[in-house]
Amino acid sequence: MWLLWKKEINSALFWLTIAIGLQFLVGHFFFMLFLLCAGLLIRQIRFINRLEHWLRTGSKAQQAPKAPGIWEEVYYHLARLKKREKQRRKELAKRIEQFRKSTEALPDAAVVLNAQDEIEWANAAAREVLGLKKSDKGQRIPNLVRFPEFNQFLKSKNYTDHLCISSPVNSNIILEIKVVSYGNGLRLLLAQDVTQLKKMERMRKDFVANVSHELRTPLTVLKGYLETLADFDDGLSPLHTTSVAQMLQQTDRMQHLVDDLLLLTRLETQQKKSDCVDVPQLLKQICDESDYLATVEQRIELSLESAAKIHGNEQELCSAFTNLVTNALKYSPEDTQVKVRWYEHGDKLCMSVEDQGEGIAAGDIPRVTERFYRVDVKRSRKLSGTGLGLAIVKHVLMRHDAQLQIVSELGKGSCFSCEFPQKRICR
Ligand code: ADP
Repeated sequence: MWLLWKKEINSALFWLTIAIGLQFLVGHFFFMLFLLCAGLLIRQIRFINRLEHWLRTGSKAQQAPKAPGIWEEVYYHLARLKKREKQRRKELAKRIEQFRKSTEALPDAAVVLNAQDEIEWANAAAREVLGLKKSDKGQRIPNLVRFPEFNQFLKSKNYTDHLCISSPVNSNIILEIKVVSYGNGLRLLLAQDVTQLKKMERMRKDFVANVSHELRTPLTVLKGYLETLADFDDGLSPLHTTSVAQMLQQTDRMQHLVDDLLLLTRLETQQKKSDCVDVPQLLKQICDESDYLATVEQRIELSLESAAKIHGNEQELCSAFTNLVTNALKYSPEDTQVKVRWYEHGDKLCMSVEDQGEGIAAGDIPRVTERFYRVDVKRSRKLSGTGLGLAIVKHVLMRHDAQLQIVSELGKGSCFSCEFPQKRICR
């Protein structure tokens, strides 16, 4: 590097010596000096001009122009930078192409939407199942996928949930739509074909409903005969007496199981029916009945702090609330109280059931609403129950836009709260 600078300085000194020599011959020192500076300046301008031309022509001129001295070094470094930049651009283009090809090959439909719901990009599956065309780029998607619920879903900006719609191309295909926001107002819309999954789900529900329904009649007959046998029992054979009692107990349990399964199926499949439900009145009735059925009376302390009624299905709410009250009585000692409250909390309406029972371990809390999940199977088996009660509560609440909150501490007790949104209040 220093060598090049030395060459450059030597060349300037050479021309300066020439200018001084000429001055001795011809005189006019300053004129000679001016000529020398002008010459050097013109030389530099020529190289700058060549450089500008080379940079401007871009990739057309691959080789850097030839130049002497330090300019050769400048051209060389710029040429290297240019080459590296070109390689990087090539690499990036290759990656983009690979990404484009892989998203094109995705089995799920993917569409990139901008803040105005206009299509920025869509893959092959999106064109197939959503009926989009390549020329639809820039079109607003609600104008092409014309389902009111889809439109509403996009407008809602709340994409935590998903939406199921039929494909606009083939109504037999069911699509599960998910939207993910990213970048500056951009959204990725994913549509997955869930036709098979929905079909299986339907089959499972139908199977459970059919089996439960078919089991009902034989169970009723069996229970009828067992009750007759119990009535005619003269008590002479203890084996006979205990067998019949146990068979009756198990038939009862099975009948409850079948009833709960049928109720769950109804909750999953039936259309929602809504009336104005007088919750305070309903809770009074449930607490009176539960108190009457419990072995120890007056265990329930009912506190109605709100007179609010809510839009909902009375029968469904009755079974959810009854399940919670029955559990509280069942899973706490008989000498403890169970507090049932109906009150307003912030913008929510709450129904809570609090007991001083054995409580639930933190790890079990998220699982107790699963079907057939019982915390301590051995102990739970001794107490009557199907393991479906809280699953029913969860489903009923879901159908009422409500949420179940469980706060519990082992050895201290549990509090189950059903939180209803204000929009459910009926006046
Ligand atoms: P089950 O018919 O067994 O009562 P549930 O679905 O109603 O079924 O409850 C699931 C499990 O959650 C129960 O087996 C029990 O272990 C636990 N559980 C429910 N309520 C309470 C409660 N109030 N206190 C303690 N454990 C409870």
